Amino acid sequence: MYVMLLGAPGAGKGTQAHVLAEKLDLAHVASGDLFRDNLKQGTELGLLAKSYMDRGVLVPDEVTIAMVKERLAKPDCQQGAILDGFPRTIEQARALDDALKEMDKKIDKVLSIDVSEQELIRRLSGRWICRNCQASFHESSRPPKKAGACDECGGELYQRADDTVETARKRLDVYNEQTAPLIDYYGQAGVLVDINGEQDIELVLSDLLSVLQR
Ligand code: ADP
Ligand code: AMP
Repeated sequence: MYVMLLGAPGAGKGTQAHVLAEKLDLAHVASGDLFRDNLKQGTELGLLAKSYMDRGVLVPDEVTIAMVKERLAKPDCQQGAILDGFPRTIEQARALDDALKEMDKKIDKVLSIDVSEQELIRRLSGRWICRNCQASFHESSRPPKKAGACDECGGELYQRADDTVETARKRLDVYNEQTAPLIDYYGQAGVLVDINGEQDIELVLSDLLSVLQR
């Protein structure tokens, strides 16, 4: 099963993908995490990506597509994956369709998580992420049990440089211009399901699971 979580920055894709991947035994493929891993390792790709990420704009399609295709070719993705943050442009969506077709596979469901702009900004500016396992916390909606430490692995929590209000606003504009057209793209393909993302984390999860386990 190949599932894509579609939604603006802060919609809760990472939070839900983390749990869904474990519950459904699927790989979690998050393009933003792949770029940040590359940056941590000091690769050329990581440094290139940083110059775009810092400005809140998208990394060029060619580079992003090559990175995700390489990830999808790994053994843990052969039975399926939860895609989080990819595709983000029509060109990426077409490339993904082609790549899956070559593997004799296809996207089964695209779950579009809808959250208002005001709530997205509130979520991004209060977000804390685990350096070790990438679990996402929020200073008021999902506070860690112990300040500064991940509930799941004890790793150190940090705030992303691109989660400032200014860069978050830029990322939302980029989402509306370049990524929102995917709602029509997948609607026409007949795989899109809308999810109300403005509910408690557990309720969003149960809506997602009820679609995927149908
Ligand atoms: P995305 O991966 O879509 O950018 P995240 O999953 O990292 O978003 O969530 C953004 C922030 O919002 C995090 O701080 C997370 O803890 C919080 N969050 C996620 N889902 C909800 C929700 N349903 N209600 C309130 N806060 C949420
Ligand atoms: P995210 O972790 O999904 O919020 O992504 C953080 C940043 O990484 C984005 O603002 C982009 O600069 C870059 N990025 C992540 N995924 C993609 C993608 N599919 N296409 C282009 N850029 C991406």
